[in-house]
Amino acid sequence: MKRKIKLKKPAKVMISVFGSVFLLFIIIFGTYLFIEAKLSKIGYSKEAIYHIITEFKISYVQDYPHNQTLNAAFESSAYQEKNLEHYSKITYQNHQNIIQNINSLLKKGYSDREISMILAHGNDQDVQEFAKRERIKYLEEFFTYDFAKLSHYDRYINYMNEYGDDEEMTIIKVNLDLDKEDYVDSIQVTDYSKFVLANKHHYLGDKYIPKKLIKVPDQYVKGKENSSKGVNEAVTAAITMLKAAQKDGLSLLINSGYRSYSEQEEVYQTYLDLYGENYVASYVSKPGYSEHQTGYAFDFASGNSNVFANSEEYKWMIKNSYKYGFVYRFLKSKEEITGVKHEAWHFRYVGKEAAKVMDTEELSFEEYYAKYLENKK
Ligand SMILES: [Zn+2]
Repeated sequence: MKRKIKLKKPAKVMISVFGSVFLLFIIIFGTYLFIEAKLSKIGYSKEAIYHIITEFKISYVQDYPHNQTLNAAFESSAYQEKNLEHYSKITYQNHQNIIQNINSLLKKGYSDREISMILAHGNDQDVQEFAKRERIKYLEEFFTYDFAKLSHYDRYINYMNEYGDDEEMTIIKVNLDLDKEDYVDSIQVTDYSKFVLANKHHYLGDKYIPKKLIKVPDQYVKGKENSSKGVNEAVTAAITMLKAAQKDGLSLLINSGYRSYSEQEEVYQTYLDLYGENYVASYVSKPGYSEHQTGYAFDFASGNSNVFANSEEYKWMIKNSYKYGFVYRFLKSKEEITGVKHEAWHFRYVGKEAAKVMDTEELSFEEYYAKYLENKK
């Protein structure tokens, strides 16, 4: 027999209250999920969305789909309501403390455009340091160049005041550490690619031995004694080039290629004993700093002349070497940048693409490195 349970009135009220609360909860939760899905679709993170909803900024952010700076702002505990308009207009960079740094820069009076520029030229730490200094009026001076570094600002100013180069050249030189003394405070090189830079500020060290070293076949080497080696890719390209020169009726040969740390030590000591400090400072690299140690550099020779600079082969190289991926490394006009006196015979393999750019834009490898390579590392 069924028995109807008769509830007392207060219990009925309780249930309907609970029911309503539950229903309300479902509605709110449902709405939340709906908004979350909508904002997530336009690029906002779960964490940011929570703050967007609780700060009542849903309709605001909908006008800024996929705005990473806004997203970071709503994720950050440094978020400041008064800076909201700025966040939406500043170009995002993947920096941990981007919002703190934007707040500090706004306080210094920088515009949104200027802040975007500042953020693009350094990491978190650099920006933080930069934000501590007095406001800089003419940021464009250096920072319209994308390879300018925020952390080098004072060095740019000092170098420019001292040497009077234009902005671009100043940036290139300082980025290459040319405002520092040779062989002091050098960068330790760990790059084994054809873009490796070795010079008086980039140190290979005594452990650096190129991978895939091969011997240059005898017929491509000048003189009887042949110990010339190079990195596989560079030797292959050199041979293709020598054959092409041969087709043009010339005798282009290799004089020397890879030189180990200890071989460079010997060379350096020999020249030092023979000609003294001044000579080696201009012409001979200290061990660990020579491009010959990379396996990508060769000294070329003519089979018809003992002075390469006077030979037809030299003229041919100037005109054609870039087509085979080689660049004229120590030009007269670039001595100030390369730090090496003009050498007619020394060419460096960098690959066809880079060689073409250097040839067209008349850049030394150092300049190419500062403008196009270092930035991407
Ligand atoms: Zn050389």
